[in-house]
Amino acid sequence: MSKIRSGPLYDFQMTSFRPAEAPAAPQLRERTDIPDRFKWNLSHIFHDWRGWQAAYDELDTKIAAYAALQGSLAKGSEQLLAAMKLSDDIGQLTYKVWYFASLKYDEDQRDNQVNARRQQVQILFAKASQASAWFNPELLQIPLPTVQRWMQENRELAVYRFAIEDLYRQQEHVLDEKGEHLLSLSSRFSSAPYDAYAALSTADLKHPTIKLSSGAETTLTYGQYRAILATDRNQADRAAAFSQYHKLYESNVNTYASLYHAVMQRDWFHSQARGYRTTLEAALHGNNIPPAVVENLIETTKAGTEPLRRYHRLRKRVLGLATYHTYDTTIPLVDFDRKYPYEDVLDWLPSSVSPLGEQYRTQLRDVLFGDWIDVYENPGKRSGAYSAPVYGVHPYMLLNYNDTLDAVFTLAHEMGHSMHTLLSNAHQPFVYSAYTIFVAEVPSTLSEMLFLEYMLGQATDDRERIVLLQHAIDGIVATFYTQVLFADYELQAHRLVEEGQPVTADTLADIYFNLLQAYHGDAMDYDAQSRVTWARIPHFYSTPYYVYQYATCFASSAQLMKQLTTGSDGERAAAIDRYLTLLKSGGSDHPMPLLQRAGVDLSKPETVRAVVDQLDGLVTKLEGAIQSLG
Ligand SMILES: [Zn+2]
Repeated sequence: MSKIRSGPLYDFQMTSFRPAEAPAAPQLRERTDIPDRFKWNLSHIFHDWRGWQAAYDELDTKIAAYAALQGSLAKGSEQLLAAMKLSDDIGQLTYKVWYFASLKYDEDQRDNQVNARRQQVQILFAKASQASAWFNPELLQIPLPTVQRWMQENRELAVYRFAIEDLYRQQEHVLDEKGEHLLSLSSRFSSAPYDAYAALSTADLKHPTIKLSSGAETTLTYGQYRAILATDRNQADRAAAFSQYHKLYESNVNTYASLYHAVMQRDWFHSQARGYRTTLEAALHGNNIPPAVVENLIETTKAGTEPLRRYHRLRKRVLGLATYHTYDTTIPLVDFDRKYPYEDVLDWLPSSVSPLGEQYRTQLRDVLFGDWIDVYENPGKRSGAYSAPVYGVHPYMLLNYNDTLDAVFTLAHEMGHSMHTLLSNAHQPFVYSAYTIFVAEVPSTLSEMLFLEYMLGQATDDRERIVLLQHAIDGIVATFYTQVLFADYELQAHRLVEEGQPVTADTLADIYFNLLQAYHGDAMDYDAQSRVTWARIPHFYSTPYYVYQYATCFASSAQLMKQLTTGSDGERAAAIDRYLTLLKSGGSDHPMPLLQRAGVDLSKPETVRAVVDQLDGLVTKLEGAIQSLG
């Protein structure tokens, strides 16, 4: 029952790194006024709430039946198989019961009745998790060779080989009952440093008011701060916003340093308690990723910063700035506000994926025209965008499409996730249908890259080409270079703790500032206040060693893109085949071998260099487009 997920594959982490956009003019319509073809049809899951209730009750019954299997596993392969199958039944039913309520709720989050049903499912999740807690310890009591013999004798049980063997692999770092109990007692205070960070950086933060050159006064929330950096063409305004915003962190920097130190001490405590050599090793063990992958990522990226510097030098020149600072990095190079109506994108998106072959394109059209997508915003609707993998039905997509270029790329991104879900669900047994985050962002970013290529081919206006190229480059900067810099920072800081070195606000500031300089060299003018930027990054406190996965996914898709679009017909056909096999493989193996079979080896420098080359090519194209603009 480990496959129960409590939410759809939300993309808030990816989008939070993207450059902020000026808010689009809202053309808010009531949901009932939006034609049905722009709304998802949830009756594909259940006809109505009665159907949902019947499934809910069935789920409740099955959860009780699962609890009753406790103590039976050692009796033989049939008993183990029965438990695995029942767990699958419960999992499949869970997807439908959860998503029907959850997607319905996201249509209008003001609906308390639907919210109550959604919470009802969450309560059932807690029950399911209690009812299944016995399974792992009981299975692991049986020697692995015994279970392997059962799998040899029982073909149906053999389906679960990877899942079962992986449980034994993870067992290596599981303690005895007394040890596990002791560790479980630490869980309550383990989250204290993050909770304190969250309170300090949100609830207790007093946002300053800033007066802009236009005379307008605005409260400097994080969203407003980013909006000023991305839209205000007056450099003095951006500088003032940067300074005011960073003062918020400067004034509490010793507290932030103490909290981050606590996060790292906690990580080191857990790593040592479970017998890992380093915090990095502990973080990567779940997905069976060798630490060399992260080390290679960091080293190769640091050696490949020249295209990044070229881009910033070009920006400085085009923007006509005498000095160029971190707060000048997101302002658009040109003004261009073309609208991209959804109806147009319906033609473009299928065309953009033609490098993936006719079958993929046909399937993508099914997704676009199947009433699976909730397109427009309406009062009460959940913000952002996601793809929800409703097993046994099909993926659904939530958008808040507003005709901007960003909205088009968001659709292309979520479409990548949905196609991954569609192919994985069609080709894998339930137990392997879900894929890990380490692979998840590969198809989504590849889908965006294909779409960019298509749009660049269509663009007739140089300014549109510039906007498209900047969009792609800013994406690489935000989801690749920045994330690798963050990963480097986390690794260096954690190593101080592992080596028993002191950690103060100054040591953390030095690490961050040195990295900023190592990446940007002489292409940027540095402000002392950038020394505290690390203090703001939520991922450092909430999920250490997480962000590097955005960069590895990005490198993987850059490498795949290269293989899919260059070489002979035969080579490209083979690359398509390998890529589709990756999507069809779901979570049937660890991410590294899955990607290796697709032709991507993340332990090799050339995979990471594919991104560096890609950026280099895009900056060259951008230079050309700017030149022809005159
Ligand atoms: Zn995504």
